[in-house]
Amino acid sequence: MADIISGKDVAEKILTTNIKNKVDELKTKDIVPTLVVILVGDVQASASYVRQKEKFASKAGINSEVRKFPNSISEQEILDEILKINQDNNVHGVIVQLPLPDHISVTKVLNTIDPSKDVDGFTPTNVGKLFLGEETLVSCTPKGIMLLLESTKTDLKGKNVTVIGRSNIVGKPVSILCQQKHATVTMCHSRTRDLTAKLSDADVIIVAVGVPKFINGDQIPKGSIVIDVGIHNVDGKLCGDVDFESAQEKASAITPVPGGVGPMTVCALIENTVIAAERLSR
Ligand code: NAP
Repeated sequence: MADIISGKDVAEKILTTNIKNKVDELKTKDIVPTLVVILVGDVQASASYVRQKEKFASKAGINSEVRKFPNSISEQEILDEILKINQDNNVHGVIVQLPLPDHISVTKVLNTIDPSKDVDGFTPTNVGKLFLGEETLVSCTPKGIMLLLESTKTDLKGKNVTVIGRSNIVGKPVSILCQQKHATVTMCHSRTRDLTAKLSDADVIIVAVGVPKFINGDQIPKGSIVIDVGIHNVDGKLCGDVDFESAQEKASAITPVPGGVGPMTVCALIENTVIAAERLSR
């Protein structure tokens, strides 16, 4: 039976030790890392993520402020708000909660955020730096996954990592991070032929597909580590992209849903805000 990799516990530990220590150090210089979350409209899922972000921010001792705007806000008004934040020395990180209403261009919004305050790591500058292996603000879910893998003491050097999903926010960046740790990475997506064959020699499987219980235990090689990024509400019950019950019979370690990758994403966001504050204060 697989070990459970508790993102909840790993996040709690990082927030209250490493991150809190850095925050305390900054506070001795009268700097309190500050995150602004821009929330447009009344999206239920976004609201619950935002609540978790506020909870984690307070655990780490940083400021977090939510700026809410109605669905009717114009694109220019949102861009002006971001430009104002870019100039505000008391704000170190900004994120715009997605999705946005259709009349607001996500690309324009992301291109307006100052990369040094882009704690989601979504701006072209930060994505480019990640690709080049330069110091940057790494996007939160991939960063959280790497922290989880680190917590299992897995050395990725020479290991086979299979990533299912090639989104800009999860699949692509996490595959780059794994390569930087010298893993051999196989990327799978909706046009991949014989997905199960691609999993057969995987040491680590990262699933970010967006389909409930898409991968099951029969497809998972014995002893592999399974990271389930998906999150779904099916008939009032949360589940991931992996069928947890059958997968835990085969894997050596597996993340649960909820309590796996989700808390690590928020933990990484808080850490990015602290890193941004450290860099901006130099
Ligand atoms: P996304 O943008 O929808 O991308 C899904 C990827 O899965 C695409 O690359 C797609 O391939 C691939 N895919 C879809 N059907 C497939 C199939 N039948 N076989 C193989 N590949 C297939 O999703 P995302 O943003 O990466 O998110 C994935 C999941 O993670 C969602 O459930 C999301 O809610 C969750 N998520 C959780 C967190 C967290 O913090 N816990 C953060 C982000 C996302 P193509 O490119 O070929 O279309």
